[in-house]
Amino acid sequence: MDKFDKPEHFASRPELPLSKQQARGTQAPSLADENNQLKATIKALIESARYNQKTQDKFYALELYFLEADSYDSLVGRILKDLKRQLKLTQVELFLIDPLQETQQLITEIYGQLGYKHLFYCDSIEAIKAIYSDEISLILSNSQEDIAKLSPGMSQSVALLPLRRGNHIIGSLHLGSRDHERFHPGLGGEFLLHLGSIISACIESSINQERYKHLSLIDLLTRAKNRRFFFQALGTEIARSKRSLKPLSCLFIDIDHFKAVNDEHGHLTGDRALRSVADAIVPLLRQSDVLARFGGEEFTVLLPDCDLRQAKEIAERIRDKVSLMHIANDTDQTFQLTVSIGVSHWQQNQQHADNNETLQKHLIRQADKGVYQAKKDGRNCVRVVENR
Ligand code: GH3
Ligand code: MG
Ligand code: MG
Repeated sequence: MDKFDKPEHFASRPELPLSKQQARGTQAPSLADENNQLKATIKALIESARYNQKTQDKFYALELYFLEADSYDSLVGRILKDLKRQLKLTQVELFLIDPLQETQQLITEIYGQLGYKHLFYCDSIEAIKAIYSDEISLILSNSQEDIAKLSPGMSQSVALLPLRRGNHIIGSLHLGSRDHERFHPGLGGEFLLHLGSIISACIESSINQERYKHLSLIDLLTRAKNRRFFFQALGTEIARSKRSLKPLSCLFIDIDHFKAVNDEHGHLTGDRALRSVADAIVPLLRQSDVLARFGGEEFTVLLPDCDLRQAKEIAERIRDKVSLMHIANDTDQTFQLTVSIGVSHWQQNQQHADNNETLQKHLIRQADKGVYQAKKDGRNCVRVVENR
């Protein structure tokens, strides 16, 4: 039996026994009766204290488990899946206030779609107010009206727990039990309130951590990933491709005559042009592809599970789209850009792909050679250099 298991109910205490005097009426109790009564009361109190201790231990263990989550993804998983299992609940739903969809955007950029069915984001506090009506405070209830605040399910009683940081409401956690008596208005909610404040702190801190992590891996000018991220992803994808025997391709994209753009239109327009190129490329890629600013006016694209033919196609689409863009300078005159692209690829039957480091160098060198060849061939074109 694990440390979270049992008891099923929490924060409800065993009943203290009725005295015989209470039970029988007014007759004076004998000394022995009183003594027995006292013993029974003490026994019940000890039981109750033990019970509370057990509940407290269980909640502490759970809270520690949340505090140890090392990412937003893992924390949300622990709240939605593990909390449900450990407290033997039928439903757990998490609502987070995310006014500008900033958290959603951040998390999607890092993890893609997390796909938690019971995680909901709301635009404003109004959605949370609507759940709690008057005052936003813990609701323990087995009324149909409150049960209906969860998605349709098997719950017969619910705990609606506001999540707050300081004076701010950051969301709401909803727990549902199949047991009609598990949550009801007469129940003490201290453990749940404590759990709620720990979960709130964990959520806020994990979002902040993800923000810092993300900042250290993106290029702030173009919002593409940075070179560090690219190398990390390259290592991961090479290992993955070798395991799965799927091909891996890589593009090096270099803007043509970019120095002239700066010279003619100024650096700020040059910066805007770099952003426009990145923005043009993103919609042509899949969620699993990685666009990075490799440096200066050079971008790289990592294309997992993509063979040479598909990679050339994507490179052509990028080249074509960029060549059709009109970029405005500070005086609202527009100009156009082109890019030269080198393509490299790896697939299982290539003999030289023996160790990961060699393979990494190979992919970069071949793509770089491709760019060099494209420049030589007049720019605004895509080239693959096959020889080593
Ligand atoms: P080529 O077609 O041979 O690639 O010519 P190029 O002019 O693009 O290449 P070169 O390497 O000579 O110049 C790259 C230019 O990119 C020089 C530099 O000023 C500009 N650049 C690099 N980083 C930035 C940046 O962050 N912002 C702006 N505005 N320009 C940048
Ligand atoms: Mg360059
Ligand atoms: Mg260039």
